Amino acid sequence: MFIERHCHYTGSLPIEFLIPQFLDKRDEIEDSTAERLLPNYRILDEVDFHQRRHIYQDIVAQNLRTAFTDDWRLNKRRFDEIYSLFQTLSRSNDPEQTERLYSEGSYAIAQSFYRHHSKHIEIKAGPRKDLDSTYRRVHAMHRGLSRFENESGLNNFAEITLTFMKKGGIFQNYDPDSLTGIFTLLEAGKLPRVNGFDFSGDETEEGSDTLFEIISEIEKFNKFRAARNLRTYIVTVHGGEEFVNIDPAFYIEFFSRLLASRIDRVGHGTFLWIPHSVFETTPYIDRERRALLNSLARRNIELELCPTSNLLLTPLKDSRDIPISYFRQHHIQFSINTDNCTIFSTNIAREHHLIYS
Ligand SMILES: [Zn+2]
Repeated sequence: MFIERHCHYTGSLPIEFLIPQFLDKRDEIEDSTAERLLPNYRILDEVDFHQRRHIYQDIVAQNLRTAFTDDWRLNKRRFDEIYSLFQTLSRSNDPEQTERLYSEGSYAIAQSFYRHHSKHIEIKAGPRKDLDSTYRRVHAMHRGLSRFENESGLNNFAEITLTFMKKGGIFQNYDPDSLTGIFTLLEAGKLPRVNGFDFSGDETEEGSDTLFEIISEIEKFNKFRAARNLRTYIVTVHGGEEFVNIDPAFYIEFFSRLLASRIDRVGHGTFLWIPHSVFETTPYIDRERRALLNSLARRNIELELCPTSNLLLTPLKDSRDIPISYFRQHHIQFSINTDNCTIFSTNIAREHHLIYS
């Protein structure tokens, strides 16, 4: 039985959920990625499409499997294209329809992880800038997840982590008033299944002050709750995937600051553990990286490892280069995750197999 700590809502939507959306949206989608994944989908007639649904599912699965190459830079572009297509397929201009999709999508994700022997999952989903939309999104997901749990006789199978996404140096879906509103809703118990916050997106220096401001707001909120013996909310930060493009000196400074603040987990953390044989740095940077890695253990910060994601989107070429025995020896906690299982054609069992075989 597996635990999934790091899966993004959009990239984890099963193909069988997305296929009918191809049909519903085919007049709106003008996308070469859609055409690559499901050739001629625009000229398929409705009857044919529904009758042959399983065949189309196989075609999309096959095309996703061959979408990625050995060239991680090219893969990153492909990933962005596919991700944005999945976004188009899973949202609507009609808010009610979008809510319905979020509910059904969450149901489908839970079902697919359960099928791959997960006993618990945490889904990362973006809050919206306006509080009401965040509220509605969380509740839509909650409805789908509750339906799944009721049907399967499970309890607390799935949680939701709200992820703020940075693009162009700005957290696109963050608004200070809205964050205060989220705290108020959490206090009132009105955001079911939300277990905390996550930060994802660009890793450039730009906007990192905002990141630390938000983290410190969450810390204040958590302290206020801890003082009353109430549960606190986790903070997880994506970091370290961009080790080729980011100045190592900046990364050292960034991680020092990050690990000194109240966070619970680091998503990927690749820069910290990538072996010298894959990423050559100076002895000084290597020493600093090791010190940071060891401070994860001291501060009880967990690494959310996503093997396939790193193999496809970074220069990492072999999952054996993920230093699991080092983590064990140094008591560094880690979890193994899928990140975006549908896009990467993986599942939680396969990710564990990559690490333990
Ligand atoms: Zn991620």
